[in-house]
Amino acid sequence: MMGITWTSSNLGYPRLGENREWKKLLERLWKNELDEETFLKEMKHLRLNHLKKQKAKGIQSIPVGDFTFYDHMLDTAVMFGIIPRRFHSTDKKISLSTYFAMARGTAEAPACEMTKWFNTNYHYIVPELNETIPTLTENKPLKAYLEVKEELGIEGKPVLIGPITFLKLSKGYKKESFGSLLQKFVPLYVKILQELEEAGAAWIQIDEPSLNASFPIEDYFFVQKVYETFQREVPNISIMLQTYFEAADHYTKLVSLPVDGIGLDFVHGWEKNIQALKTEGFPANKSLGVGLIDGRNVWRADLQKKHSELELITSYLPEGNHFLQPSSSLLHVPVSTNSERKLSPVLKDSLSFADEKLEEINSLTNMLNKKPDEKWLEKNQKVFQRFAETFRQQSEKITGEKNKLPSKRSLPFSERKTHQDNKWKLPLLPTTTIGSFPQTKEVRLERRAFRKGEKSINEYQTFIQNKIKEWIDIQEEIGLDVLVHGEFERNDMVEFFGEKLNGFAFTENGWVQSYGSRCVKPPIIYDDVAFEHPMTVEETRFAQSLTEKPVKGMLTGPVTILNWSFERDDIPREEVAYQIALALSYEIKALESAGIEMIQVDEPALREGLPLKREEWDRYLNWAVHAFRLATSNVKPSTQIHTHMCYSEFHDMIEAIRALDADVISIETSRSHGELIEAFETAIYEKEIGLGIYDIHSPRIPSVGEMKEMIERALRVLPASLFWINPDCGLKTRNKEETVKSLKNMVQAAEEIRESH
Ligand code: GLN
Ligand code: ZN
Repeated sequence: MMGITWTSSNLGYPRLGENREWKKLLERLWKNELDEETFLKEMKHLRLNHLKKQKAKGIQSIPVGDFTFYDHMLDTAVMFGIIPRRFHSTDKKISLSTYFAMARGTAEAPACEMTKWFNTNYHYIVPELNETIPTLTENKPLKAYLEVKEELGIEGKPVLIGPITFLKLSKGYKKESFGSLLQKFVPLYVKILQELEEAGAAWIQIDEPSLNASFPIEDYFFVQKVYETFQREVPNISIMLQTYFEAADHYTKLVSLPVDGIGLDFVHGWEKNIQALKTEGFPANKSLGVGLIDGRNVWRADLQKKHSELELITSYLPEGNHFLQPSSSLLHVPVSTNSERKLSPVLKDSLSFADEKLEEINSLTNMLNKKPDEKWLEKNQKVFQRFAETFRQQSEKITGEKNKLPSKRSLPFSERKTHQDNKWKLPLLPTTTIGSFPQTKEVRLERRAFRKGEKSINEYQTFIQNKIKEWIDIQEEIGLDVLVHGEFERNDMVEFFGEKLNGFAFTENGWVQSYGSRCVKPPIIYDDVAFEHPMTVEETRFAQSLTEKPVKGMLTGPVTILNWSFERDDIPREEVAYQIALALSYEIKALESAGIEMIQVDEPALREGLPLKREEWDRYLNWAVHAFRLATSNVKPSTQIHTHMCYSEFHDMIEAIRALDADVISIETSRSHGELIEAFETAIYEKEIGLGIYDIHSPRIPSVGEMKEMIERALRVLPASLFWINPDCGLKTRNKEETVKSLKNMVQAAEEIRESH
């Protein structure tokens, strides 16, 4: 182990600020409450603060240029002059208003598409390459590098999205032209790097996470070419080629690229990466970036364990300098646990957000460089001990109960259908909605007042009951066949359940960026998830007491609850999903006993949990489907289980959808312009299905005619006896008038088609 030294490093830092200052600045600018000059000044202040903080925490290799006013992919596109024509301005330097127009759209020009950043909940703006020839409008990393050098005397490490990943994530070109398009970008990257080299930058971090996301081996030809060019044209700069979120797809090829450092994720890709390191070794004269502190989750690292992992890694490393770093940018975790005052101390001590993670990296680096801090280590061990003594004591009991729970309905669908048809006696093409009705300001204010203790529980419940009554009457008047209670008591479809189940904690300030200025505060699953008391029975039963029509119960499914939370990292994710499923099965039993025998279990996040690597899809889908079935199988044959998912990419997971064995599924179609219907043309789907026939994301009222057309089109592929009519998602973001008018048209469309059948 002689001759190895370690440098503490970071890959990216949250933009938000400890009190979401970033979000507030943006929103004030958009509302014209702030002029551009003040905005820029305040943002700079925030940016420099983040850098100072990283330095104070002991980080030696500090990323610069990862800060943004919206999204780093958008920044990269704008830097390369990729401005779709609909936003065109004649300015050479792209103005802030053009930048935000691309992100958010204007009255004339719809926003650029936004999509998930790999398997995270961060969304990036998708560059459109079809209309423009790339040019370098500004060297953004250089600007960032010079700024910190001048203002703070910090020698930062500029961060760039690599050309391979940038192109892979862009749209507007044909696969065959990947190589020629790349040719256009490479000289621009070279220019950026050369200018950085001249300015004195020593290390550059080039992010290429695409290389871990089922990267086709034949494309390594391009990767090789690109990095050879960089080496030839910019010989005096050191490039850290950074991958994350998974193990490297083609380790041998990756580590032999002509760069100075390779960054690997040793949290999410531990097994494969350590195996590859062991069998293939690591090239001499290169630095390894060891991503060992989890950049995606909120748990404190067990330093003893991390230390032994590092010893193992070190045993395979050549002499030289290596980097200790988080597994990915810290963008995906909240800023600091400092401001959490309500969490139990045992739990709070066990958490580590961005700032605490930097401290962990610093301690570990010191430990490696042979300055072990015994006190730190001891304190760290105590935290784990106390946590283990306090929480997670029920899992055996839960596993026992889970093992007794059926994961298969007592009868196959064809037989259940007879029971259900006899019980429900619904008309052909039954009409329904997806669950929520408008969450107006009035509703939100009332909920807030109750939370703050300004309204008593009685007052609040009366308010909710009145809302339910109002909307049961409206639904009756519209003529819908299956009604819902409207979800007025729910703030968020995960938080609502998390607050009522054992095992979830809610932070005060644990925000992470989802897209643009939009933040989410995911709950933390810290303990065994367990059912405590019925969560939805009261409201649903009340709604049912007001009408002869069936009222559908409404739950969030186990996979969605898991995917939208920070999860435990001591047991496999699927075990947590099964615990949630068990709890939901009790809720479903309680609903059934209360006479609610049509129950919808929403799984809008099923698809987004898909692993980055294709070969791991089946495993995920198997346990995800199993969790859903555990939650929903323990019911009578006549009880009708519905599910809902709000996206349209189904062609590659139709097997899994079928395996859920829900009696009725509703999915999005309206925005996919019939593509989904085509998918069902070739796949056989034999259960009941509602293809959302209008887009709830738009305030536009769809006409009877257009909805009839959608239905007719679907009926060419799907039998009418299996088809339901519904909007494509919940109506919580719409107002009352839009909702009522649209639903009236929808019901009329269904009636007219029924008559002609
Ligand atoms: N039942 C939920 C609602 O209507 C479903 C939300 C969703 O699909 N995301 O709001
Ligand atoms: Zn939906």
